[in-house]
Amino acid sequence: MSAKLERAPLYAAGDCPVCPGAGVLLFLRRSDARQYFFFCTHCGNAYRERPDPPNACNEVNALDDVAPRGIVLPHKEEIANVRGLVTAQPDAFEELMWHVERSYADAQDAPSEKP
Ligand SMILES: [Zn+2]
Repeated sequence: MSAKLERAPLYAAGDCPVCPGAGVLLFLRRSDARQYFFFCTHCGNAYRERPDPPNACNEVNALDDVAPRGIVLPHKEEIANVRGLVTAQPDAFEELMWHVERSYADAQDAPSEKP
């Protein structure tokens, strides 16, 4: 795999509807577009839209389905624009990296862009 993401605080939008109490919805952005999505490191499901209602699992996607070219961690200003985000657990970053390394193992150029 190419460059790793810089370690940074992650933010979450509450529990994952698939695994409430275990996984949270991390707020992420595609590296190739100003497009945000949510990802649960516990079950590995990615959500193009924030689940509405919050306990509804409306979609099932792999990380590289939603962000085919890789991910970046949103800037602070971007996070400030989304209501109801909370700081994710500190170990969420390692869990996210685990998924990133497996999702983009074959990709040459993802995820390499810095936020
Ligand atoms: Zn989940």
